[in-house]
Amino acid sequence: MSTIITLRYNTINNNTLETKMTLEQQDKKYVLQTYARDYTNFVKGVGSTLYDENGRDYIDFASGIGVNSVGHGNEKLASAICEQAKKIIHISNLQVIEPQAKLAQKIVELSGYDMGIFFANSGAEANEGAIKIARKYGETKFESKKYKIITLEHSFHGRTITTVKATGQESFHTPNFSPYPAGFSYEKSIEDVYKAIDDETIAVLIELVQGEGGVQPFEKKEIQKLAAHLKAEGILLIVDEVQTGVYRTGEFLASNLYEIEPDIITLAKGLGGGVPIGAVMTKHKEVLSAGEHGSTFGGNYLSSSAGLAVLDILSTMYDSGSIDETLVYFAEKLQDILTRYGNLFEKEVGLGLMRGLRAKSAEVQSAVLKNSLKEGLIVLKAGKNTVRFLPSITISKNEIDEGFKRFEKAISSL
Ligand SMILES: *Cc1c(COP(=O)(O)O)cnc(C)c1O
Repeated sequence: MSTIITLRYNTINNNTLETKMTLEQQDKKYVLQTYARDYTNFVKGVGSTLYDENGRDYIDFASGIGVNSVGHGNEKLASAICEQAKKIIHISNLQVIEPQAKLAQKIVELSGYDMGIFFANSGAEANEGAIKIARKYGETKFESKKYKIITLEHSFHGRTITTVKATGQESFHTPNFSPYPAGFSYEKSIEDVYKAIDDETIAVLIELVQGEGGVQPFEKKEIQKLAAHLKAEGILLIVDEVQTGVYRTGEFLASNLYEIEPDIITLAKGLGGGVPIGAVMTKHKEVLSAGEHGSTFGGNYLSSSAGLAVLDILSTMYDSGSIDETLVYFAEKLQDILTRYGNLFEKEVGLGLMRGLRAKSAEVQSAVLKNSLKEGLIVLKAGKNTVRFLPSITISKNEIDEGFKRFEKAISSL
């Protein structure tokens, strides 16, 4: 046999071998192991119910970490994506993109803020854009340079080098990835932010409900006072709504619920219903000029069309009052669990459809997560001891009932 044929023959042989691997083995061999993964193989979803390869069903109280805002297999979203995919999926941002312009208008109108939008592909990338806008504002609008950004402890802003550094959790700032960009500092509370501001401070970056940090909302009055103070001082307020945005808290934006007007807002998770998209919106529309920021994929035909379909579905539900009904129903169910399982949980936390049960210990938290999956329910963790619930905004009462039935089975033996 010639060398070429031998090589080809070997390749074929290897392929045959590989098809005999289990999915778990395949993942472990070829995918970088950056996640502590569960190996349930989901193959289909309908609404807030997922099915694994054996046909077993699971109620989804996690919605892909707050991403599947309109549930799984949503007909309207799926056909918007299919129709668009058959026409144009992508043309560069050097050309105008009709669904992108429409999506920008829709987001601005729903928010009620006079802002302009830049589209990216993820939450971290949206936050990078926000930081660049703030930095340029601080470079050009004042006599001396302002560049410092204050964030809060227990915050989460992303996984790029800069957004990791913006994240107020020491454990994320491992020397493994150093050096990090300068100019970020962290405060324990909103009250401490006032004292931390100096002549070089350009912005305060916050989540109104800290998601990854433990589903912890800030007080409305406290946030309104901070917003007024920053405005008076000429310091930018950046609100990271990557998790709280797109009706997660019951309003289109958590900023609407808190009745504040931030300078910059970032969105991502729920906006595309699962299609990657991020957005940074700002009232300082003139700060970035052509060529200063960009993204190859950001806001392309496919992701913008998905975003438009998602907002169409959810804004209609909002107008009819059905989002309010869902969040009240979900909250009552959680309250009921808390009342009867005070031995396991300290309190209920969160807002809207972004909620958590603060477990008495990290051990209880991990046992609840493990047992829930066994009973066919997907929930998330947050912080050190919070069990987190991020159901899709379109979840039905039946699915909520069934989910809590399973949750109770999962915790009753603990
Ligand atoms: C998830 C999240 C991010 C990061 O988003 P990615 O899409 O993973 O980059 C940033 N901020 C908040 C508040 C988040 O919840």
